[in-house]
Formats: sequence, structure tokens, C-alpha cells
Amino acid sequence: MEDYATYLPPLVLTHQEGHTPPKQKPTIFWIGCCDAKVSEAEVLPEKEIFVQRNIANQFQAIDANALASLAYAVSLSTIDEIMIVGHTDCGGVQACYDVAQGKARPPLHWSLWNWLHGLTILAKAHTKLTPYQLTQLNVIQQVNNVRAVLGTLTNRPLKVGGYLYDIVEKKLVVVE
Ligand SMILES: [Zn+2]
Repeated sequence: MEDYATYLPPLVLTHQEGHTPPKQKPTIFWIGCCDAKVSEAEVLPEKEIFVQRNIANQFQAIDANALASLAYAVSLSTIDEIMIVGHTDCGGVQACYDVAQGKARPPLHWSLWNWLHGLTILAKAHTKLTPYQLTQLNVIQQVNNVRAVLGTLTNRPLKVGGYLYDIVEKKLVVVE
């Protein structure tokens, strides 16, 4: 066994006796976009973060993955804020914006249009907004979606904040 253990990678070794992995103590639950230019570890390098990322930073209660992640995150006593983080130049927001403006539907796979259904409806209901403003409104919508279910998951008064990350300025701007 000892010989075999020498061939195991460190991750496997941590589960053996005498190798206790450090406990996670995230203070933030981050709901962000998949976009590679918006990495939570780069935006908040000093924080320990519990992460949920998807196209155009959506939070929908019918999304079992997002809901389970939120439920687990708020069960951690260390979590004190839920951050919904949109970003400038978001391809998902831009696609919905284009459709709402009557432009030709970008050639995305049907699964993406399915995923972006709610955001497309939001864009069509607010056609006067710029893409930047639609990105902000999308963040506010997701903040509201989180707030709508949060009370069913925890009694703790957690902050739910909406933010926009400017990928050129590399700055986080408060939206809500
Ligand atoms: Zn994006």
C-alpha cells in the first residue's frame, strides 16, 4: 500500500488518514457569466468564493443546478453575501439585445436560445435600453430572482448584491 501511495496524485492522498484537506470557508456566493474574461478569482483575488457560473449570469429557481448551489452556499455559516455579477460586452446579453431590436437572430445553437429565453423576454420588454443598460437590468432581474427564493432556504439576513464587471477598466461597479 505504501508503494502504491507514492504513485497517487496529491488530491487523492488528501483523503487518506493523516492528510486532512483544509475546510472551505467562502464568504461569497458568486453567480457570474461563463465568459473567460470574468474570472471571480481574478476580480476578487483576496476572497474565498463559492461559485456558480453560466451563460449571461442567470439565476432561475427552476434551474436545479443553480438552486442546489445556492441552497448549499447559504447553509455555510461563512457566506455573508450573494453576488450576481454581469459584465460589459456579454455575448449572451448582446444576442438577446439584437433579437429585441429586430436584427437577424445570431446563429446560436437552440440550447442557447432555450437558456436565454428569460433574458430575451426581458430585452423585448425594454427595447429602449442600450446593451449596457440591458446588462444592468439583467443583473437586477437575477438579484430579484435570488431574493424571491432566499427566504425558503435560510433565515439569515444575507446581502444580495448586483454588480457589473467592466472588462476593459477591470472594475466592479455596484448595480443594486
Ligand atoms: Zn457574459
